[in-house]
Amino acid sequence: MSIDVAGVSKTFGSFRALDDVTLTVHTGELVALLGPSGSGKTTLLRIIAGLEQADPGSGAIRLQNDDVTRRPVNARGVGFVFQHYALFGHLTAFENVAFGLRVKPRRERPTRNPIRDRVMALLRLVQLDGAAERYPHQLSGGQRQRVALARALAVEPSVLLLDEPFGALDAKVRAELRRWLRDLHDRLHVTSVFVTHDQEEALDVADRVVVMNEGRIEQIGTPDEVFHRPATEFVMRFIGEVNLLHGHFDGDRADRTAADAPLVDPGGDPVRLLVRPHEIRIHRHAQAGPSLPATVQRVLTAGPFVKVELVDELRRALQAHLSHDAFDADPVAPGDAVYLVPARADRRPTCRREPV
Ligand code: ATP
Repeated sequence: MSIDVAGVSKTFGSFRALDDVTLTVHTGELVALLGPSGSGKTTLLRIIAGLEQADPGSGAIRLQNDDVTRRPVNARGVGFVFQHYALFGHLTAFENVAFGLRVKPRRERPTRNPIRDRVMALLRLVQLDGAAERYPHQLSGGQRQRVALARALAVEPSVLLLDEPFGALDAKVRAELRRWLRDLHDRLHVTSVFVTHDQEEALDVADRVVVMNEGRIEQIGTPDEVFHRPATEFVMRFIGEVNLLHGHFDGDRADRTAADAPLVDPGGDPVRLLVRPHEIRIHRHAQAGPSLPATVQRVLTAGPFVKVELVDELRRALQAHLSHDAFDADPVAPGDAVYLVPARADRRPTCRREPV
């Protein structure tokens, strides 16, 4: 089932939490709403769910082309999972999952055995069939979250909405659950939207990522697109680390006379260049093209790549990430004077040139 959000705005008092948001989620897609705190992600999710209404006269929500804008939450066929897995503490995992089926109107309610079969199948799906008789307090946080997902899936929603589903868990469990959610989604293909403020989680799990900022959508794209071809400076900064290089571009040679103008460009305009740390090359000597003099401050080798912290001539902090092989071939050390070259600065999509 597809979801269309068309021109939706939401105002709380005089505060505009959503500003003319338009978005299509295709049938069977897994989409992440990603943005900093207060950017409007939860408000958008709640409006899709029907838990919140858009401003009167502002836009529409359509599920599979059916306008549900004025339809109440229980008539939209959506399943939810919230950050604080609100399981019923006095019910076992089995009964929690069965709950949504037992409260269905009599004519839609399955009988006892089909309920048992469906609940056990769901518990197997979330790998908790051995824990059916446990109460929530006898389950770990990750297990509780999986029961919450099974409970949301029990009523066979056509759309699954997840608000920071793994927010309350520690990093390792989160990483496991996100892989698991992706696998589950690949098997079930329920159209799903999940809210997260965690860039890695969005990039790892989603088919497409919606980057939100101050109630507006900055970019919608695949993880690859939002990372490698950010549409705005905000997106580039929010997704991944960034160096800001100030430049004065005047021909094809580095103007190293001014520390504030280390880079050159045929256009001759002052620019700010945003470059990811893994796209900075470190050289011992000035290069023919643009290169920025810098001094190594710290070298951190513990990790999958080597982090080199540097400062430019105005002592502004910069970071370069090198592979261990590249570092071992020419290891730099604190105090070394080096030259930084943004890798293929003129062509790299991740090097955004912003007018000053
Ligand atoms: P977080 O990651 O912190 O949950 P979010 O991106 O999900 O943030 P929302 O919860 O959608 O953000 O909130 C967007 C803005 O709207 C925030 O500034 C919030 O304070 C405001 N807001 C949300 N709900 C209400 C409400 N019921 N009344 C007043 N303001 C609200």
